[in-house]
Amino acid sequence: AEMMAKGLPKKKAIVGVKHILLVASGKGGVGKSTTAVNVAAALKAEDDSKEVGLLDADVYGPSVPLMMNLDDSPLLDDNNLMIPLQNYGIKCMSMGFLVNKDSPVIWRGLMVMQALDRLLRQVAWGPVDYLVVDTPPGTGDTHLSLIQNVPVSGVLLVTTPQTAALQVTQRGANMFKKLDIPIIGIIQNMSSVECPNCQNHVKLQSHSAKTLMHEIDVPVLGDIPLDNAISEGADTGTPVIISSPDSPQAMAYKTVAKEV
Ligand code: ADP
Repeated sequence: AEMMAKGLPKKKAIVGVKHILLVASGKGGVGKSTTAVNVAAALKAEDDSKEVGLLDADVYGPSVPLMMNLDDSPLLDDNNLMIPLQNYGIKCMSMGFLVNKDSPVIWRGLMVMQALDRLLRQVAWGPVDYLVVDTPPGTGDTHLSLIQNVPVSGVLLVTTPQTAALQVTQRGANMFKKLDIPIIGIIQNMSSVECPNCQNHVKLQSHSAKTLMHEIDVPVLGDIPLDNAISEGADTGTPVIISSPDSPQAMAYKTVAKEV
């Protein structure tokens, strides 16, 4: 009712989709897409009977095709809905499936919103228990559009422990709070690295997402180290959750998935 009062359009569920989870970050390059992909895979690994979808809502910079090793064009079903591409049991949709890899997407905001609407509604998603949405960095049109148009169950915030990233994450958190979107938790990424010789964890920053946790009163659900297996998994299209499901890296993502 408050949304309506603000003159915003009414939220409409996506047919066949139970829960929509946003993965968001203040800045780019902090590991948001990597986290979205691994959390989606972790949700599936936790309970294979659950259907998991992954929507790449970063129209300008799609990562899901690479990270999920998918590059076909989706086919249409009898109702003219796009059939999501599937890998590792996860139903995926991305702007990257619809445009040539090398073509730049040079669009104004309105076109992006139309594309987003297609990726949400003109896709045969159902049945999906969790639709994980990898959003673009920052808090912009895409986030507002998602929040205004579809019922979002919650958001995961991904940040590195640099002050600059923490600050913008806090801004983002405040936006979600203002719009009454529950923040499930913070995932701190790339805060430390394990020395390959002595196995000690070397902290890369003196700051920590714990300060943010206190500021916005949201728990830190995961602390994912800077790790070669994670970046290689992203680059080769085999998420670490899939290639090494019992590794400490995979367990970190599974811990996050348990809180969802
Ligand atoms: P974002 O979506 O925030 O822009 P990405 O998920 O694309 O960030 O990650 C940026 C880069 O950092 C990618 O090359 C990815 O492989 C790498 N990366 C992300 N998280 C980790 C990690 N925990 N350890 C090592 N590399 C990582």
